[in-house]
Amino acid sequence: MQRDRTHLGSRISGPRRCLERLIASSSPITRGAPHSRRPLRANPARCARPLKVFPITTFQSLGLSQPVLDALASKNYTTPTPIQAQAIPTVLSGRDLLGIAQTGTGKTAAFMLPSIDRLVASGKKAAPGRCRMLVIAPTRELAAQIAENAKFYARGSRLHVATVFGGTSIYKNKQDMAKGVDILVCTPGRLVDLMENRAVSLDATEILVLDEADQMMDMGFSEDMDRLVKDLGESVARWLFSATFPRHLQMAVDRWLDKPREIRLDTRAGS
Ligand code: AMP
Repeated sequence: MQRDRTHLGSRISGPRRCLERLIASSSPITRGAPHSRRPLRANPARCARPLKVFPITTFQSLGLSQPVLDALASKNYTTPTPIQAQAIPTVLSGRDLLGIAQTGTGKTAAFMLPSIDRLVASGKKAAPGRCRMLVIAPTRELAAQIAENAKFYARGSRLHVATVFGGTSIYKNKQDMAKGVDILVCTPGRLVDLMENRAVSLDATEILVLDEADQMMDMGFSEDMDRLVKDLGESVARWLFSATFPRHLQMAVDRWLDKPREIRLDTRAGS
């Protein structure tokens, strides 16, 4: 199949130049056996048997809704990056996902765009003290950046986005949570504080995203994340992104994800 190698334009620089190189060097996609939610067991062999499929190269062909496509068009994003082309269909299907990709590859849109469509399609209302989608990131800066993207992409919907992280007023966080939140972006420490204060409960969460999981583990948040994942229902879709994949992360993936589809981007091609 002829691969669409449309470039993003000569104006692109910095992280987006990295994206341009990644689009041009898209690696094969792997896909595994059909999804089943139970049981959650520690078993290194659970990652799916790889099958080769071909990249899809337009946002329209990925099955996203018109409001989300309109938001992309207003940003002049015409071509999905490799992580977007591979992750979006998986996320739309609700299957767990393990994405090994660095910042600058477009992974925020890869999980946020299809999540917005899933949240809108499920039509549920956020209950007081609960969130429907939970995104956990290691730093305030990253959490703020993800929330900003979420607000932009969700502007055609009625989804309410909130951010909670250390260094801000926990009183204000509690007020935000009291109304119920569709998309909650947070750092792990502040989320645990809010749970201990009974200001947040995870029992209505539909989607969990652990972003830059390797960094969160390096910062000593493994136990907190174990606890958070245990508080979720079994039907929650879980997506984990990490720039690197050390051995201790594989053990965590076995505890936190269920038969994930695995996507590894070979960023060396663009370096
Ligand atoms: P991220 O890896 O999510 O931090 O994204 C890196 C940068 O690429 C951000 O400035 C995004 O807004 C931008 N970006 C994301 N997806 C695309 C795309 N498909 N085309 C062009 N730029 C994009």
